[in-house]
Amino acid sequence: TWVYLNGEFVPKAKAVVSVFDHGFLYGDGIFEGIRCYSGNIFCLKEHIVRLFESAKSIMLDIPLTPEEMEAVVVETVEKNGLPDSYIRLVVSRGEGDLGLDPRNCKQASVIVIVEELSIFPQQFYDEGLEIVTVATRRNVPDALNPKIKSLNYLNNVLVRIEATRAGVFEALMLNHEGYVCEGSGDNVFIVKNGKVFTPPTYVGALEGITRNIVIELCRELQIPCEEVPFTRHDVYVADEVFLTGTAAEMIPVVNVDGRLIGSGKPGPMTAKLTQAFRRLTVQRGTKVPGFFST
Ligand code: PLP
Repeated sequence: TWVYLNGEFVPKAKAVVSVFDHGFLYGDGIFEGIRCYSGNIFCLKEHIVRLFESAKSIMLDIPLTPEEMEAVVVETVEKNGLPDSYIRLVVSRGEGDLGLDPRNCKQASVIVIVEELSIFPQQFYDEGLEIVTVATRRNVPDALNPKIKSLNYLNNVLVRIEATRAGVFEALMLNHEGYVCEGSGDNVFIVKNGKVFTPPTYVGALEGITRNIVIELCRELQIPCEEVPFTRHDVYVADEVFLTGTAAEMIPVVNVDGRLIGSGKPGPMTAKLTQAFRRLTVQRGTKVPGFFST
């Protein structure tokens, strides 16, 4: 594995940053997770836009232009020779001193990691997931805005710990008012009477790129889809529930807090949207030239 680290490609073992990097000391930084499907980097432009918006919001200067950043991602995928891969893009505040003041960090650290894909077990997609809701609350926009994909993932880690302790793989966070927000690393959708619903980001959710694609697919397929706040009750009585995320794509959920969802099997709406989503992943993307030479 070759890691892009501040302008250089270094082997995995040598890809290290300083213990004084504020990404490490304070979670001061931002990131993106991106997928490459058969040499097409899916929604690369959208991910770069979100990265730069996160950076702007936390006043972090990325020392590359969006175009340069895009080129670096393409080059790192190519260099690793992995047409089907998961890409992690990290920009941290960089090396500073022990104080919080980001002005002491002279240069942001830019890191691109490309790894072989570790796909979730097929069983998740075939049989659907059992999940729970947890006590860890999602922060809402008056705290650390959930639209910023920051390196502060402690809440999300706590959710995964709660999920593991409950014997399941993923869990849903609620906000302080009890509205359902999202999973530890996925957005959530419910289906009721032929309509699709997902929480608006203001309740406390990342504006997921997969989420946006699903909303767009609903429009194309003329399936009614709305962003509305909903509670656990609405999830329990939904006909279908599914999660969306770059790594997971779309995963059906068949049990929430011990309540069977619908028939307890992945439903037809989830299947239809998943099919449309899969079709799109090989159509829409930034081509990595090395994988398409004739
Ligand atoms: N919610 C959180 C907290 C996430 O970390 C992610 C993963 O990126 C998502 C949702 C899904 O977003 P996307 O579809 O852009 O990967």
